[in-house]
Parts: sequence; C-alpha cells; structure tokens
Amino acid sequence: MDCEYCKKIFGNDEDSILNYLQHVQINHNDELSEEEKITHNIREKMIQSKKAYKIFKKKTGDSDLVFNSKNSDDL
Ligand SMILES: [Zn+2]
Repeated sequence: MDCEYCKKIFGNDEDSILNYLQHVQINHNDELSEEEKITHNIREKMIQSKKAYKIFKKKTGDSDLVFNSKNSDDL
C-alpha cells in the first residue's frame, strides 16, 4: 500500500500497515476527516489486538485456534 496523501510506499504486512496508520496520523492529521480518523483508530486497534493475540498464541503454544479477524481492505 502507499500513502494516499504523499505516495510514500508501505508494505502490506501488519507492521507496515501500523506504520502507515501512524504516519498518516502524524503527517496528514489535518487532511483527515473525522470519519477517517475514526476508521484509522479502529484499524490500528484491530491490528494491535491481532498482534497481541499472536503473541498470546505463541506463549500458550496453541496453534489450532484461528484468529477470526474481519481484516478487510475496504475500511
Ligand atoms: Zn503520507
């Protein structure tokens, strides 16, 4: 994915998306609508909880559970 405001390129993995969301909040906050700010917050929290879940899963060693995230790109 790339930044829709300055065309900076980001990857598609979770860390890159987090970086992208943080980049937009830091660099383009003035350009975001209230709705976009809310959407970005939700995505950020979603990725962070997904990452927290993966860490939890690693610690417990349970690989059978599937994290059922609604991780769509149409947000
Ligand atoms: Zn940018």
